[in-house]
Amino acid sequence: NAPLAEVDPEIAAVLEQELGRQRDYLEMIASENFVPRAVLESQGSVLTNKYAEGYPGRRYYGGCEFVDIAENLAIERAKKLFGAEFANVQPHSGAQANAAVLAALATPGDTILGLELSHGGHLTHGMKLNFSGKLYNAVAYEVDPETYLVNMETVRAQALEHKPKVIIAGWSAYPRQLDFAAFRAIADEVGAYLWVDMAHFAGLVAAGLHPSPLPHAHVVSSTVHKTLAGPRSGVILSNDESLFKKLNSAVFPGQQGGPLMHVIAAKATAFLLAAQPEFKDRQERTLRGASILASRLTQPDAKAAGIDVLTGGTDVHLVLVDLRASEVDGKQAENLLHEVGITVNRNSVPWDPRPPMTTSGVRIGTPALATRGFGDAEFTEVADIIANALMPNPDLAALAARVKVLTDAFPLYA
Ligand code: PLP
Repeated sequence: NAPLAEVDPEIAAVLEQELGRQRDYLEMIASENFVPRAVLESQGSVLTNKYAEGYPGRRYYGGCEFVDIAENLAIERAKKLFGAEFANVQPHSGAQANAAVLAALATPGDTILGLELSHGGHLTHGMKLNFSGKLYNAVAYEVDPETYLVNMETVRAQALEHKPKVIIAGWSAYPRQLDFAAFRAIADEVGAYLWVDMAHFAGLVAAGLHPSPLPHAHVVSSTVHKTLAGPRSGVILSNDESLFKKLNSAVFPGQQGGPLMHVIAAKATAFLLAAQPEFKDRQERTLRGASILASRLTQPDAKAAGIDVLTGGTDVHLVLVDLRASEVDGKQAENLLHEVGITVNRNSVPWDPRPPMTTSGVRIGTPALATRGFGDAEFTEVADIIANALMPNPDLAALAARVKVLTDAFPLYA
């Protein structure tokens, strides 16, 4: 029972170095966050030792009396947080939750309709190399070429033409809210299920700062680790009683074996915390931070440098920077920001003229910095640092010094 540093100094060093990186850089990858210590504690706990195939009270293994308590707490808290009658908290990840949702709603060969990957959709919504594109006949709707918004007339036309079994609403890179009621009306018109993947904006929904898909969707899936700030994992919710059994059996035994009980316990804690006023305050700061960033990147000096923001702003926790008119491409922007101490990811913009490894866009999110404690003043400073890094002839050393002031002022896991 020697500590990690003795048993495996190489891996112990990785843990130390990664903690240092998280402390020294400003984390602005839109899908990332910092979990509270309480979540780390469950994930590094003895619950990792336990096999618990099945569901609480109906396990295929003995000795589940305590992990049953944890899973029941996670289920009840998820239901309460999102106003759902059903929750399955076993998916190991967002992708596995999505595989189970599709298995419950469709049969291989059926048509599914989701947002095009290069327009902000997710791999599991029908990308051709993903299970969703291989097992199902995936068709995609695109954003409007003028507004870069999802146009419900286009979605309806695609749905009428292709008669999908499942319509998917949800995204990984889209800066606005979707009209879930309009999606549901189209689903009803063509006899499709509506599945909403709220992985990115679940934290905003939990805080009441984004419309909830629950009243409209047949099924909602999510990750727990993005805006929700819980452990890496997935969850499935529904208010359609006819689907509850199917969804459970699609997760187990359909997709997975033993659930990760240490992660499920951590999910329970994350759902508990997401119902607190402090969480709402954090989501409010997240939203304000994104809108401060969007407005800085649309100022005349940024425009003059060929920088723009898709859709002109944001309603959520991220901004999509459009660099099509800039000398700096997505990859160079990612590298420049890395040099000043800000971590982001490059991202294709719709109809991107540059190749996927280069791209003409950057996706920048504010959840992790809001968790770190940032408010309007700090987000204003970060937005200015980012704008300056992307404009011609940046003084990278001076910008890096400004980043250091911020990281020093907001210690992480102190
Ligand atoms: N769904 C959406 C909309 C996502 O953005 C992601 C993550 O990028 C996923 C699902 C998949 O989550 P995971 O990485 O946990 O499989």
